[in-house]
Amino acid sequence: MKILQKGFNYSQDGPGNRLVYHLQGCNFRCKWCSNPESMSADGVNVKNYTVDELFDEVRRSRMMFFDGGGVTFTGGECTLQHKELTELLKKLQAEGINTAIETNASSPHLTDIAENVDYLIADFKHYDTDVHRKWIGVGNEAVKANLEKIFASGRQIHIRIPLINNVNTEPTGFVNYFKQFDTENAVFEFLAYHEFGKDKWTQEYEIKDGFVSDETVAEFKKLFIANGLKVIST
Ligand code: SF4
Repeated sequence: MKILQKGFNYSQDGPGNRLVYHLQGCNFRCKWCSNPESMSADGVNVKNYTVDELFDEVRRSRMMFFDGGGVTFTGGECTLQHKELTELLKKLQAEGINTAIETNASSPHLTDIAENVDYLIADFKHYDTDVHRKWIGVGNEAVKANLEKIFASGRQIHIRIPLINNVNTEPTGFVNYFKQFDTENAVFEFLAYHEFGKDKWTQEYEIKDGFVSDETVAEFKKLFIANGLKVIST
């Protein structure tokens, strides 16, 4: 498997203390991406591991999985390596290790992969497919199809919405989309725009004035809660 970086993180990528693997490659081109070096299929600092090598490494890290922790696969977009990822997730679950993925939710394999995931985190960037295509390079049809299947299945899902000024700071369209579905087992989180990855861009960085105010984040929270959608912060 192609791994860009790895390290421990507490509570932000699933419950407890987690070993987080960033897998190389992404099929989206978000103009605010904080890991632009993860987009190409083969990055400069990428290391290759077999499924068994990663399985052994995770097992050896087990003492660190306190407070309900475990292992999280993110990216880039971890589902692009779905065959190896699924094999590894199965082995980890069989070993009793808590598994999580963070995904852009576009993969045709997502619902199959999710069968071996204890904690599912999915990003949702815009409800309008044309706006999605403008800022991300592709429409949102596959993302919506996956989320709608997951809502119908009733499985747990943690949906993260990055908020970027001039891109997606109008909450009504998000609420109108989500409130059509049974979101009993879904939680929603809003991530305010930051520029931690801006200096890593080798192409022009096209987001100008992307920061959002505390009032904008509060407005999202208020409208989601008023419509029966559960909001969390990590
Ligand atoms: S989906 Fe994530 S990794 Fe891929 S381009 Fe967007 S922000 Fe970057």
